[in-house]
Amino acid sequence: MQRGIAHPSLSEATREFVRRAHGLLIDGKWSEAQSGRTLDVEDPGTAELLTRVAAGEAADIDRAVQAARQAFDGGPWRRVKPAERARLLWKLADLMHDHADELAQLESLDNGKPVVFARAVDVLSSVEMVRYFAGWTTKFGGETVDVSVPGEWHAYTTREPIGVVGQIVPWNYPLGMAVWKIAPALAAGCTIVLKPAEQTPLTALRLGELVLEAGIPPGVVNVVTGYGETAGAALAAHPQVDKIAFTGSTEVGKLVVQAALGNMKRVSLELGGKSPVIVFPDTDVAKAAPALARAAFFNTGQVCSAGTRLYVHERIYDELVEQVYTEVAGWRIGYGLDADTKMGPLISAEQHARVTGFLEAARADGATVLGGAPSDATRGHFITPAVLKDTLPTMSVVREEIFGPVLCAMSFRDSEIERLAAIANDTNYGLAASIRTRDLSVAHKLARRIKAGSVGVNVHSVPDPALPFGGFRQSGWGRERGREALELYTEVKSVAINLD
Ligand code: NAD
Repeated sequence: MQRGIAHPSLSEATREFVRRAHGLLIDGKWSEAQSGRTLDVEDPGTAELLTRVAAGEAADIDRAVQAARQAFDGGPWRRVKPAERARLLWKLADLMHDHADELAQLESLDNGKPVVFARAVDVLSSVEMVRYFAGWTTKFGGETVDVSVPGEWHAYTTREPIGVVGQIVPWNYPLGMAVWKIAPALAAGCTIVLKPAEQTPLTALRLGELVLEAGIPPGVVNVVTGYGETAGAALAAHPQVDKIAFTGSTEVGKLVVQAALGNMKRVSLELGGKSPVIVFPDTDVAKAAPALARAAFFNTGQVCSAGTRLYVHERIYDELVEQVYTEVAGWRIGYGLDADTKMGPLISAEQHARVTGFLEAARADGATVLGGAPSDATRGHFITPAVLKDTLPTMSVVREEIFGPVLCAMSFRDSEIERLAAIANDTNYGLAASIRTRDLSVAHKLARRIKAGSVGVNVHSVPDPALPFGGFRQSGWGRERGREALELYTEVKSVAINLD
């Protein structure tokens, strides 16, 4: 038996779920892929086979889209009142909360992340996200508009659900990313075809079961597991899908945009990042170091908003960088289900090779690499956190998103303070940024000048459901979370009535 499944901490419910046959959720029923094909799901902490799930393809996507179409156009969902949608979302949140341990264990097995963080961060913040959007269902709509054209008018706008939504999510926060998408879409009254990442389909499948148990009608949420190039591409291109919401790499985001052009479906994108963190000399080094370590290395650095370009004033550079490295060097790296693990493996052998490749290139270019020791990837895709010094702005390790535990630490002088915004903005991305200082004027000025969807001051990122999240430039289109997420799932209609 695989080591993951044999782990003593696993509950019987989790074991039973992993061993079960995993079909596709279409129209409230579970079925195999039409081709009968499956895909292997690996445990990244052991590199062993964990389970198999159905490998949905274009024909399965089509079945799911038809079910979602029927539930939206002719089925019950359009008639469900906002307050009832709120109750269904609350019920779903309660069920997720009741199953928090099981969901956390599944996430840890599937993704490798520490189970304690999976529970506290992935699962419980997903519960809060569902509750937050449950609240919006009854508080979101159009407005009356005073028009100035001659005559007497009653004019108003409505916000209508956009229709059938395709949602494609990545493997770094499998449950969290699925919930960021399905919660606002359901609150707005849309129906959904969700395509989880092929590496991490398990919590989305369990979520599909909970959706049915909550009483959300058949066809409203459909889950099709499968590869990106087949199932994902078919969903992005499907002519009866009204909107596609995608989280993943910028490269694939561009393919999604092209695929969506056929029927000009609406598109929202949450893509990559290479987020700057700027630390001024009035910073309390001992307090900042653990926070900066978390900003870069949490979730093994597989976070789109990770603070991976660290710019520190030269007066505190050596002391701060040493403390950040000492902090992460003390983290226990290990199997996600072990209770004392602070950092798990990378998701796959491919990602392991990618991260080690970046580190080799950086060494060859003359950077100093502290840490960054890879394990034998055939026994789990581990690597120790890497802090890089002596990097140049032109190096690939500074320019490209690595999506691994790699932090580039650079220093700046007083004479460069005026240029800091330009330095921070010297990237194709614009997802997040943060500033550490006690000087309000410096913080506000930089917050204005930095081109990023989220800017933190004395914090890197605040994952609150009410705060919009998304990117400038090649980090994406649109904002998830907050009221802005609901807007992504609605169309505005203007109605003008001539009263004369
Ligand atoms: P990816 O782009 O390869 O895959 C993401 C999803 O897209 C997966 O479900 C995959 O199956 C699917 N996909 C792949 N090819 C496709 C295609 N041709 N058509 C349609 N769908 C396709 O990214 P990844 O490797 O899974 O995730 C890592 C990347 O995601 C990183 O670059 C990271 O920055 C980004 N990310 C961004 C955010 C954010 O909120 N901005 C969050 C998480 C991850």
